[in-house]
Amino acid sequence: MKCALCNNEVLNLLGTVEFETRSLGKIQVPDLEYLECTGCGDKLFTSEQSDKAVDYIAKEEQRLINMLPIGEFMSANESAAILGVTKQAFSKHPKIKSGLIFSTIKSNRKFYNRKSVELFKKNGNGKFLLRRHVRPVRKYSLGNLINVDFPATSAEDSIEFKSPEFISAESTKRGLENEFERCI
Ligand SMILES: [Zn+2]
Repeated sequence: MKCALCNNEVLNLLGTVEFETRSLGKIQVPDLEYLECTGCGDKLFTSEQSDKAVDYIAKEEQRLINMLPIGEFMSANESAAILGVTKQAFSKHPKIKSGLIFSTIKSNRKFYNRKSVELFKKNGNGKFLLRRHVRPVRKYSLGNLINVDFPATSAEDSIEFKSPEFISAESTKRGLENEFERCI
C-alpha cells in the first residue's frame, strides 16, 4: 500500500503513539496498531484503534482527576452558584456533561473541581494540565500491510483499503479535540 499523500510505502506498526491534549499535555498511548508512511510520516488509524486511543486518554485523565485533593472539589449546588445558573441547568449542561469541568465521584455523589469550575466560567473550558508520568515511545514493525494484515489479491483490492476504514491521524486528532475541546 502506498501513501495517498506522498506515494511512499506505508508500514503496519504496533506501538506507542503520542497525542497532545489540554489536560494531559503530551500523552503516549501504548499498543496501538496503525499505518505509518515511510516518507511523510502520516499516520492512519482504524476507527476502532482511534476509539481505543480516545478511551485510554479519557481514563488517564479521570485517574489523575481522582488523585486531586478532595478539598479542591465542591458540590453541584456550589458550582452552579459560581456559574450563576440553577442546579438543574448546571447538571444538564452538555459541555459539563461531556467533562469540560473536572469531576469526581465520592460516596455516590459527584463533586466538581473548584479551579475547573472557575476556568469554565472564564472561557467555557474547565480543563487544565494535570500531572502525569511519561512512557517511553516504542514501536514494532508488523511488516507490510498488504502482506501481513490485509492480503490483497489485486492492485484494485489494495486501493480499496485506503477508505473509509482508516481515518487519518489528523481526523483522530480532531476527534480528540472535539472530545476534549483542546485549543492548539
Ligand atoms: Zn506519505
